[in-house]
Amino acid sequence: MAKKDIDWSSLGFGYMPTDERYVSWFKDGKWDDGALTKDPNITMSECACVLQYAQTVFEGLKAYTTKDGRTVCFRPDMNAKRLAESCRRLEIPEVPEEKFIDAVKKVVKANEAYVPPFGSGATLYLRPFVFGYDSIIGVKPANEFQFRIFATPVGPYFKGGAKPITIRVSDVDRAAPHGTGDIKAGLNYAMSLHNIVDAHNCGFDENMYLDPKTRTKVEETGGANFIFITKDGKLVTPKSNSILPSITRRSLMYVAEHYLNMPVEHREVYFDELKDFAECGLCGTAAVISPVGKIVDHGKEICFPSGMEEMGPYTKKLYETLTGIQMGEIEAPEGWIVEID
Ligand SMILES: *Cc1c(COP(=O)(O)O)cnc(C)c1O
Repeated sequence: MAKKDIDWSSLGFGYMPTDERYVSWFKDGKWDDGALTKDPNITMSECACVLQYAQTVFEGLKAYTTKDGRTVCFRPDMNAKRLAESCRRLEIPEVPEEKFIDAVKKVVKANEAYVPPFGSGATLYLRPFVFGYDSIIGVKPANEFQFRIFATPVGPYFKGGAKPITIRVSDVDRAAPHGTGDIKAGLNYAMSLHNIVDAHNCGFDENMYLDPKTRTKVEETGGANFIFITKDGKLVTPKSNSILPSITRRSLMYVAEHYLNMPVEHREVYFDELKDFAECGLCGTAAVISPVGKIVDHGKEICFPSGMEEMGPYTKKLYETLTGIQMGEIEAPEGWIVEID
């Protein structure tokens, strides 16, 4: 398969339309078979439910070229399950897992020329989403929905190495205790936009959200879960029912325990504990792990011993092992790597 003439190393994390995307319609109570289309545009009513009441959920996953030249996806079944959970919560008809995986395979196959070569550091990012399509003005769910997956090549997340970032403790909350923080819905992001712009204006890379009820426990950032490493090499990651269950974080917990022999704790993490950790990172599909060097709480700084120059040693090991599994250099646990053929 001849690859597109793209300078893979200069790609950022932006949208570049590719040749084909998948579209399936839900009408009259059922999903149609779905098909690929070349049309990147969507035409809809000004009163579409998604525009008026934000009835939409999404996913994010990647396709890679492995060292031996195969095109693969990482754990798409996990994205399928999480999307179904998100759909249930917003009264969107579930996309069956087989349909989701089939659609992922179709989109990657049709855009194989855009899957960056091994070693480029770039990947093909897939964005599955479902939204309420028909006109709704009284508050209720849509009757018609579209499930769509597009693909876009994205560059190496860290150009010139992963430099630790600085995070501030947010004054606003991300998700209510019994709200929608644990589903991947656009509505959780809408509220974060002002706060992230403000954080950047104040010189910070990200916002750390605390639990909204007591504001004593760590939740996550706008789009990534936290991992912490204790001084004796334990992986600690916050547990709360308002955190989005990151597939990267769950994979790192497995890698720590089964590949690196690190004890793993998934539990409530109090903000007061942070000063005792040796390393901190953010995890998600986009960057896998972004190292965090410093957390600022209204002028009070928590500086991790790993510093502001490079990833801490445990974080680096976790990063290298998981990316090695994704790129086919390290043997993967059963079912983690799905080949596109
Ligand atoms: C998508 C997302 C993550 C990361 O999840 P992955 O499955 O690892 O990509 C973390 N937090 C939030 C709020 C998210 O939306």
